[in-house]
Amino acid sequence: MIEKIKCLIIGSGPAGYTAAIYAARANMTPVLYEGLQPGGQLTTTTEIDNFPGYPNGVTGFDMMEDLKKQAQRFGTDVRTGMITKVDFSERPFKLKVDCKEDLLAESVIIATGASAKYLGIESEEKFKGLGVSACATCDGFFYRGKDVAVVGGGDTACEEAAYLAGMCNKVYMIVRRDEFRASDAMQKRVLHHPKIEILWNHNTLEVLGDSSGVTAVKLLNNKTNVEKIISIHGFFLAIGHSPNSKIFSSFVKIDDAGYIITKTGSTHTNIPGVFACGDVQDSIYRQAVTAAGSGCMAAKDAENFLAENECKLAAGEK
Ligand code: FAD
Ligand code: NAP
Repeated sequence: MIEKIKCLIIGSGPAGYTAAIYAARANMTPVLYEGLQPGGQLTTTTEIDNFPGYPNGVTGFDMMEDLKKQAQRFGTDVRTGMITKVDFSERPFKLKVDCKEDLLAESVIIATGASAKYLGIESEEKFKGLGVSACATCDGFFYRGKDVAVVGGGDTACEEAAYLAGMCNKVYMIVRRDEFRASDAMQKRVLHHPKIEILWNHNTLEVLGDSSGVTAVKLLNNKTNVEKIISIHGFFLAIGHSPNSKIFSSFVKIDDAGYIITKTGSTHTNIPGVFACGDVQDSIYRQAVTAAGSGCMAAKDAENFLAENECKLAAGEK
């Protein structure tokens, strides 16, 4: 017998857990699969200062633990596992967990968020795990007292650079333009910091190293065309994230950048009964609170959808 689930939630970030809280409280007996990153992106950062309800800030890890406990308190079945395949061609929808177990779902909430981007150069791939990282909170510890570089000019890059400056000898920020994309509040953390040197208008040409790992990086000043090599041991990417939408893309409409397209003002995708919330469908705001807000919307949309369908079934309609 294949297990049949009323409301399946894919993802354990702020969007997935908020959807779970609302779905559980609406008696939809939600089952939530955590995926490879339990707690989502916020578990890769330190302090969250802008999520409402925490006047003194909160660590990303603690906040996500709180959200998980809150979802479980109302009966969400939180499971370890990755959804590896979907078939949304008919209802109930068919899904596979970890390439083996099959599931059927009456409604699906996609809350799979986004994953860190890399530059895509060969030498970066070669040194992944040997000095190249996309998570300063996870890997910064290994570079205590050493020189490191952070690529990017957004909020994440500024946050990671400030975090690394607390433990490393020196932090270079490699920024491809002559200005940041980051908010003023985040810029303030790095501008004029005694341990942070900002290399404006620079692109990375090559990550250099040996069997011990990264030793340097070769850069190009895109204004002057001058190349230079800086000695570093850690090379941190903070150049944004790509939406985790690939496994759904044969069924669900996505835009050119891979974001799931939802009907304006709702979380409905083009497939009735499949909803999307959080960063996987948001190319603009991409904040924990907006992800959580759209998670609430997805649960409400799924609740209405299920109620309407039960009503149709009761009336003998297809
Ligand atoms: P995510 O948090 O990305 O979670 C996605 C979830 O989906 C993960 O649990 C993953 O395991 C799961 N998943 C993916 N694919 C599958 C699958 N196939 N099967 C099962 N599960 C799957 N925002 C703020 O508001 N304030 C901040 O201070 C802040 N700091 C940040 C710091 C950093 C370093 C980063 C990277 C982001 C930060 N953000 C911050 C942005 C914020 O983290 C995101 O907007 C938010 O986490 C998006 O939530 P989400 O639930 O949509 O997705
Ligand atoms: P982002 O805002 O998309 O910024 C990405 C940065 O990387 C930009 O400076 C971009 O340069 C640069 N970049 C992109 N591709 C590059 C490449 N190939 N080579 C070199 N540089 C490249 O991403 P983010 O900083 O991860 O932020 C994502 C979302 O999370 C945002 O909405 C942000 O507000 C949120 N966030 C919030 C907080 C907070 O509130 N405390 C903290 C972290 C993240 P260009 O500017 O030239 O495009």
